[in-house]
Amino acid sequence: MPLGADLPNGRSHAGEALPEVAVGENVVRVDSAVQIRSVQDRQRERRGAPGGEVEEERGGQSPHGQILHIECPTMAKKPRETFEEKKRRASAVYRRLKAAYPDAKCALDHRTPLELLVATILSAQSTDKMVNTVTPALFKKYKTAADYARSPRGVLEREIHSTGFFNSKAKNLRAAGAAIAAEHGGRVPDTMEALTALPGVGRKTANVVLGNAFGKDEGFVVDTHVARLSRRLGFTREADPVKIERDLIALVPKGRRTLFAHLLIWHGRAICAARKPLCGECPVEPLCPKVGVRIA
Ligand code: SF4
Repeated sequence: MPLGADLPNGRSHAGEALPEVAVGENVVRVDSAVQIRSVQDRQRERRGAPGGEVEEERGGQSPHGQILHIECPTMAKKPRETFEEKKRRASAVYRRLKAAYPDAKCALDHRTPLELLVATILSAQSTDKMVNTVTPALFKKYKTAADYARSPRGVLEREIHSTGFFNSKAKNLRAAGAAIAAEHGGRVPDTMEALTALPGVGRKTANVVLGNAFGKDEGFVVDTHVARLSRRLGFTREADPVKIERDLIALVPKGRRTLFAHLLIWHGRAICAARKPLCGECPVEPLCPKVGVRIA
C-alpha cells in the first residue's frame, strides 16, 4: 500500500476513523501520521549515508513513470473546496511534511543576521550548497556590515565569483553594508520595511532573515520550490511571488510559515521535483490535487 493510502474500511492502522478533507473538488480520507515514514530516512537509506544532503532540483524516475496524467484516485465529483476546507487541508499537509522532514531548516549556514543576509543575497540564482562553500572564508574576513562596504572593487567579486552574478551581488553587498552601517548602527534591521529598503533585498530575502534570524514569522518565503508546490497543491493559482505569498499567508497562520516554507523547499528537492514529481512516494499525495502535473 502506498504511503498515506486509504485503508479499505476507512480506518487508520490504529483502528481509528479517518477524517475526511476536501482536495480541490474531491474529498479524500486523511490517514494518521503513523504511516508517514520520514522521507529523509528513505533518502538516507537509498544513499546509505546518514544525514546526507538532498541534491538541488534532482530529477528521478517515478515508479509510475508511464502515467501521462496523474489524478487523485478518489475523483468522484464533490462540492468545490471552501476556504476553510482549504485551510484545514493546508494544515494537514503541514503536519505530514513535518513528520516526513523532521530535520527541515534553513540550509544556508550562518550564525548572525548579517551572515544570513549575506548568504541569502548570494543564494540568488545559485544553490545553498554552493553558497555554503563560499561563506566560511567570507564570514571569517568580513565581520561587520562596514567591512563589506569597504571591500576593494574586484576583491569581493573574486571571493564570491562561484555563486554567479558576482558583479551585481558584490555591488549589492557593498551598498547594503554601507546602508546598515550608516542607517542602522551596523545592525541588520528586523522589520520588513527596513529590510526591503536595503539594496538587493526583496521580500523573499527579507522573509528569510526575519523568520530564521529574528524568529519573526510574518511572511512566507516564496522561492521556486514554494511557488511550484503551492500551485500543485492548489493553494494558489498565481505565478507572481508576491501574490503567492499573499495566498499562503491567508492559509497558514503565524508560527508555521517559516517552517512550512522550509518543508515545501525540502519536499520540492526530494520528491516533488519540477520535471518528475514522485507522486507515488509522496506523503501528501492523498491531500494533493496535483494541479498541472504531467509525467512523461
Ligand atoms: S509529488 Fe505529486 S502528490 Fe506530492 S505534492 Fe507533488 S504533485 Fe502533489
